[in-house]
Amino acid sequence: MSAAISDRAQSVFPGGDTRASAHYEPYPLVMQTASGCVLTDLDGHRLLDFMNNFTSLLHGHAYAPVVAAVQAQVARGTAYAAPSIAQIELGELLIERLPSVQRLRFTSSGTEATQMAIRCARAATGRQKIMKMEGGYHGSYELAEVSLVADAARRGELASPVSLPVDKSFPDSVLRDTVICPYNQPALAKALIERHAHELAAVIVEPVLGSLGMVPAQSEFLRVLREATARQDIVLIFDEVITLRLGLGGAQGLHRIAPDLTCMGKIIGGGLPVGAVGGQQALMDLFSPTQPNPVMHASTFSGNALSMAAGLAAMQAWDADILARMNDLGQRLRDGFDQAFQQAGIRGRALGQGSLCNIHFTDAAVNDARDAIDGMQRAGLAVRLLHLSMLRRGVMSASRLMFCVSSVMSEEHVDHAVTALHESLTELRPFIEQERPALLVRA
Ligand code: PMP
Repeated sequence: MSAAISDRAQSVFPGGDTRASAHYEPYPLVMQTASGCVLTDLDGHRLLDFMNNFTSLLHGHAYAPVVAAVQAQVARGTAYAAPSIAQIELGELLIERLPSVQRLRFTSSGTEATQMAIRCARAATGRQKIMKMEGGYHGSYELAEVSLVADAARRGELASPVSLPVDKSFPDSVLRDTVICPYNQPALAKALIERHAHELAAVIVEPVLGSLGMVPAQSEFLRVLREATARQDIVLIFDEVITLRLGLGGAQGLHRIAPDLTCMGKIIGGGLPVGAVGGQQALMDLFSPTQPNPVMHASTFSGNALSMAAGLAAMQAWDADILARMNDLGQRLRDGFDQAFQQAGIRGRALGQGSLCNIHFTDAAVNDARDAIDGMQRAGLAVRLLHLSMLRRGVMSASRLMFCVSSVMSEEHVDHAVTALHESLTELRPFIEQERPALLVRA
């Protein structure tokens, strides 16, 4: 039935889909229902959900406390355009868990959170340019995507990467306003920050390069960014839209590094649309309506009652024990995947941290966007075939082979995914021998 529905969708959506990241060929499975860690499609296929809506579901689907909170709230209204207690309670919870966040604002998405952080930084510094990482992704607008796909032919020297558009919609002005920094290269980052200090409002960085394959940042890299930006009064923004799930205090808590501003999203909405930007009081006060000329932040669904109720229920149910279990399961998944590649004699490994994981078709180190992109290009069709092969074995990941674990998963679920990878690699071997022999480990 998914094929038929996808045909029908062709006459509604361009290419039959309404979201680029969730699309895959030949057609995406159409879901009927979801509960816990199981998705059920229209044909009754049951899939273990290792996608969790791109890491936004901490507790899987239809988690009882979230359902109860949303049901109770929906009868009391969904969006008031007025303050509510749930907004304040969720805000207080985040401020308590993240010492670098003294004040925050809710937004409707992670996209809007990073936009607002950038506007805050420009207002605070009077400077224009933003430094972002090669391969970094901060939302669905041009500046947030510059050099996301740093292809080898155009990306320039590692020491000063070229600002590359992702598509033909990019204005030149955005490319000019963006300074691209290589990931996990402390010395190069320091030099770039010093060279551009007079024009940089902010440096924005994900503590794990998420969209580009869950490449964790080295602490040393983040520390150098912190020191170099502090010396030059440049605002350091951590985009923790994905990495907040790595620790109760986010990745910044694990690295013990305090950014000036933090962007959040995904998990803090309990499965509903959400975002937040928070940080030092002096910076965040630039948004205050009591200021003479505040940074403009209006957003119809910001802080809406449903997202706040769901987010509060999800975050309150997430404690140190559950976090530790999720991180252990994430490690078990990565270890199992690594072993599957070794046994299959195919170059491949799982990257990631905590409950996050991404398969790469390489056995070399993957430290930055270039390593990741080059690996993906060498693997070619193997990435898509592996995704489909896992899907046929009841394991749902992102089509770029991103996986994440939710709190309602058990070791059995993780082991099922590992077995599925063993079987999928066996299935893929003839294709790899024929089309991508460089991926084979030779005895
Ligand atoms: N920042 C990061 C690191 C993200 O991964 C994403 C989305 N995947 C965003 C920002 C944008 O969030 P949203 O899709 O909620 O706008």
